[in-house]
Amino acid sequence: MMNQINRTDEWSQQVWKYCFSGNIREAYQLLASKQNLSKEWLKLREDLFERFFAERPSLPNPPISNKLEPFLNCYYLYLIQVLLQKIERKQAEEELSDNLSILLKKPGSSMEQLEAELKVVFEKESYHFLGGKTEPFYGPYIWAANEEREYEVEIPLGKQRLKVNFMHGFIMKGWLDFATCGRRGAGGWAKEEGLYCVYDVYKDILDSSKFQVSYLKHEAQHADDFKRFPHIKSYELEYRAKLVELIYEETSRILYQLVRDADPNPDFPHNYSSYLIIQDLEKQAGFRFSTQPNFTNDLIDKVRNAAAKAFLEHTASLEKRF
Ligand SMILES: [Zn+2]
Repeated sequence: MMNQINRTDEWSQQVWKYCFSGNIREAYQLLASKQNLSKEWLKLREDLFERFFAERPSLPNPPISNKLEPFLNCYYLYLIQVLLQKIERKQAEEELSDNLSILLKKPGSSMEQLEAELKVVFEKESYHFLGGKTEPFYGPYIWAANEEREYEVEIPLGKQRLKVNFMHGFIMKGWLDFATCGRRGAGGWAKEEGLYCVYDVYKDILDSSKFQVSYLKHEAQHADDFKRFPHIKSYELEYRAKLVELIYEETSRILYQLVRDADPNPDFPHNYSSYLIIQDLEKQAGFRFSTQPNFTNDLIDKVRNAAAKAFLEHTASLEKRF
């Protein structure tokens, strides 16, 4: 079997799984019940304890004016409630909007209205503010500065100009960052006007294929497909962007990700697209992923050629449809 997972890996994946699903109580339980934790895990256990279970929770303390601090505290209170499942999510959301509406003196406003108002408040103090949910929780992104860089990115059907906004100086970075005391969180997002990237996540890997291929080429392919095939389905978008990653990636990195993520359920476009790619590559390249103990250079070359072929075939079928 490839990708053999040993028990420690399974355990650590489970810890992160709990974190990603916003279940900090279970994540902490796992950490608390394990013997001989490494230094990093011990530190996580300690940080989670201080933030979520200590009598006086240790909250982030960003350099921000006293005027803005109470707004952050509303979100912190809400996040502790939902991440520990102290009360129903709906009730926590109501309390959050009640608390914000008191501070903003806008009784009876919806969360959407309140966060629109907050955006103005933070912008007055020259911060950027992005509200809304990163499913399933609220938890805004608030940062100090944007730095725009333009990239020219080569993808199979030509060159694509891509604007990337690097965001600096985060005050708050969504719920997952809060839940994991800064260890996990969004790397960025795509908006109509361009791409937004958390600078700290990428600053050390700007030359790596993780950024050059899995970020820039992947996103450039999305941008190109949106223009060429406006009503393309989301699993098709992912299918194409991942094939492009495979075409340009020189190592087996993405192959392992595909195997890990593949799922035949079409409700999850990301995982479903990985599943489809594996099916198509096995057909094109004449081998089975499940029987590869590791990917030799020969095999990687085979996969890259097969990916290029699959991409062109898929493009031809889209061109017929659109
Ligand atoms: Zn994508």
